[in-house]
Amino acid sequence: MFVKLQMMNELKNIAQVYGAKVQFQPSLECAGRFDLVEKIIRINSSYSRETQIYAFFHELGHFHACVKNKWRKYHDPAVPFSEKSKIGLKVERAMDKFAVKKVKKYFPEVQIAPYYSGAAGKKRFYSFVDSVNEID
Ligand SMILES: [Zn+2]
Repeated sequence: MFVKLQMMNELKNIAQVYGAKVQFQPSLECAGRFDLVEKIIRINSSYSRETQIYAFFHELGHFHACVKNKWRKYHDPAVPFSEKSKIGLKVERAMDKFAVKKVKKYFPEVQIAPYYSGAAGKKRFYSFVDSVNEID
């Protein structure tokens, strides 16, 4: 329990450096998401410590990109997802790259495979696209 609490505090401090807050919620519908308006990164606290750390840095990458005005179209809620999905895999892999770099820096003991890498990652992304398109 202490290890998890320590990790949460560390992630809160890192988020602050980027001008964001982090909230841990056990009932989130996915591993992590971010809210640009409220500047909050939400992490599913029912996942393993490793997954929470990785999800945090992946979402922080999205947040940071938005602040820097990078990949605007992908992060713009007004753009339909069917249009975003064309550039999505590239953006998601860039976020993974950001996350891998940051995890190595702050939590070098954590070993985790990038979520969207390789053929499995590609498949994962397009099944995500399908699920979003059903909602759209
Ligand atoms: Zn992402």
